[in-house]
Amino acid sequence: MNITQLLNNNCFPGRNGFKPKWLVLHGTAGGTSAQEIAQFFKGTENGSNPVSAHYIVDEQGIIYQATLESDGAYANGVVTAGHEPWWNADGNPNPNNVTISVEHVKPDDANATALTPAQQSASFALIRDICQRNNIPTRWADSSGGITGHYSIDPVNRSRCPGTYPWAELYNYLDGGNQPMPPTQPSANQIKAARDSWYSALKSTVAGPAPTGSGIYQAWLAALITGKFYGPPITREYDSVDWAGNPIVAQEFAHAR
Ligand SMILES: [Zn+2]
Repeated sequence: MNITQLLNNNCFPGRNGFKPKWLVLHGTAGGTSAQEIAQFFKGTENGSNPVSAHYIVDEQGIIYQATLESDGAYANGVVTAGHEPWWNADGNPNPNNVTISVEHVKPDDANATALTPAQQSASFALIRDICQRNNIPTRWADSSGGITGHYSIDPVNRSRCPGTYPWAELYNYLDGGNQPMPPTQPSANQIKAARDSWYSALKSTVAGPAPTGSGIYQAWLAALITGKFYGPPITREYDSVDWAGNPIVAQEFAHAR
């Protein structure tokens, strides 16, 4: 495998003593080449928002390495509501210490672009190599390790990272498909239809459309994708209490559950 190194210092040296157990796939939501993205990462050194990933795979199948596997990359931000429960277990609040991150260059800003054949081949070979060398299980992630997407860490802000990815083909490549398949990621058209619905009832009111950057929106969207449609929001979020008096955030929808 041909990998060009263009390293930056946006990392947690030595992973603060942790070992990588998970491989996290990402999409760049913009950009054109692995080299360009690696240079972009380098350019954020010492800035207000330094970022990186261990590897970047572009549409030509070219691979750049921006962070050493022995270090944690500034790739995954922080965990948000709805994340898989293991990310902040074992006393580790930082998922970057326990993951190896692979970016896929996607020109579309919603990561809806499919991988090119060259990109898919390079991604699959790189993933197998990383997993073998680091004893990362070649299966959908669970609490003991495996492969997942950025959205499992940050479902609030990164629900479309990596976006479109050939998960079934990946597991077929890694071990003949004898693995549970990952949860379905919504397609670009599903996202568009969901957003059109989300905005439909409130967009013409004085208060404007209901915000989407919340855990309630993500839960509503996840239900919609799996066939449970609650209808568009007819209120914005509001503070209330449950019947035991605990404070909760609530929102009303057009359809009964
Ligand atoms: Zn990401």
